[in-house]
Amino acid sequence: MIVHVITLFPDLIEAFAASSIMGRASEKGLLKVKAWHLRDFADDKHKTVDDTPYGGGAGIVLKPDVLYKAVSEVKKQIREEKSANVPVVLTSPQGRMFKSEVAKEYAAVHEWIVICGHYGGVDQRFIDACVTDEVSIGDYVLTGGELPAMCMIDAASRFIPGVLGNLESAEKDSFEEDLLGYPLYTKPAVFNGLEPPAALLSGHHAEIEKWRRMKRLEITSLRRPDLLKAADMSEDEIKFVRGLKDKKV
Ligand code: SAM
Repeated sequence: MIVHVITLFPDLIEAFAASSIMGRASEKGLLKVKAWHLRDFADDKHKTVDDTPYGGGAGIVLKPDVLYKAVSEVKKQIREEKSANVPVVLTSPQGRMFKSEVAKEYAAVHEWIVICGHYGGVDQRFIDACVTDEVSIGDYVLTGGELPAMCMIDAASRFIPGVLGNLESAEKDSFEEDLLGYPLYTKPAVFNGLEPPAALLSGHHAEIEKWRRMKRLEITSLRRPDLLKAADMSEDEIKFVRGLKDKKV
């Protein structure tokens, strides 16, 4: 997966892309994150990327001409026949909600461009002309699109085969199978006077799997019952979940 990030803070993006699992994925050639400095596409001697909003009021606006030039230049770097279809994503609180299924969608796209807004946001004419998808990471407003862009890249890359090793497998993570994840325990064997659940110490694979599955059902039922509607459950599991209705975790 190749992601071109247009940003006023390329250092942030580069540091993120070089760290931990993202860094390893880049070394293995599974991920390439290229940060483009928006200011490099400004034509005037002050390298102006923003201006005051028409109509007045607070919030400086990123200029459409500079953003347009940035996207056009990035597209030129992408091989000619592909560049017309490359998704151009704008991080925006007004976008569709970023969820696990959207992360999977982007994991399947070979190359995409993501734009980090800043200040008040982005001129609407640029959005209308160039942006193919607006994505929000939640119902709150951040100062810039760098964290949302990093969230998208991180979550999408977890679904690229080979990015996660066995130790970090995504299979039973939250939102897989429309369930939340199960609780985790590690050494020491006794912490705060408490031991891990006996099933996890049993050494029986089937018993451990059953305990984890029931915990996923329990936690999802109590914290995110909305997810359960799509979950694939046996008759016994449906009865188990019904019995949990008033319990709290
Ligand atoms: N005036 C905008 C509004 O009311 O929707 C908010 C602009 S915000 C201060 C500046 C930039 O941060 C946005 O252009 C966007 O790129 C990014 N941003 C802020 N919150 C975000 C969110 N929840 N999801 C995605 N991007 C966000």
